[in-house]
Amino acid sequence: MITLDGSEYFNSESIHCDLCLQRNRTDEQREYYHRIVKPAPAHPDRGQVMPLAPEFIGKRDGSSKQDCEITAGRRAIERIPAEHPQLGMIIVADSLYSNAPTIQHLFTHRFSFLLVAKPGDHKSLFEDVDGLRRGKILGACKVQCPGGVLERHPSDLPYLSLFLLG
Ligand SMILES: [Zn+2]
Repeated sequence: MITLDGSEYFNSESIHCDLCLQRNRTDEQREYYHRIVKPAPAHPDRGQVMPLAPEFIGKRDGSSKQDCEITAGRRAIERIPAEHPQLGMIIVADSLYSNAPTIQHLFTHRFSFLLVAKPGDHKSLFEDVDGLRRGKILGACKVQCPGGVLERHPSDLPYLSLFLLG
């Protein structure tokens, strides 16, 4: 599995460069910072993680627009297979990546993936999940796993699986 997650490795109210991201802490106080997306191979039976090269989140090619974690994550998704063609990979990412453009991007680059989705962040998705349960498309096959329950469609359609923590 390759985990994707954002990390901030620098911030300052006074020290900055042309590539710094910026945010206003108050109306008068601006903060400068640098963030990366950290792709890291991980295994459920191993405690060690060896990060791959990070993808920087910042201003791109002289643009005044700020980059964001999702865009940088998509660049990492494009880059990783070219740099590590020997690795079989499943992308694991938080709910920030659980959106249609990112999922399409993962399909385009032929990744399997596990993405977190939270009811509060994905209201229409969970309304669809309730509809799929009512139609017996989801929930017909439940498997108790360590840490939760896996609900899936009996046909094994990969995008119709739901893991419920608990
Ligand atoms: Zn900077």
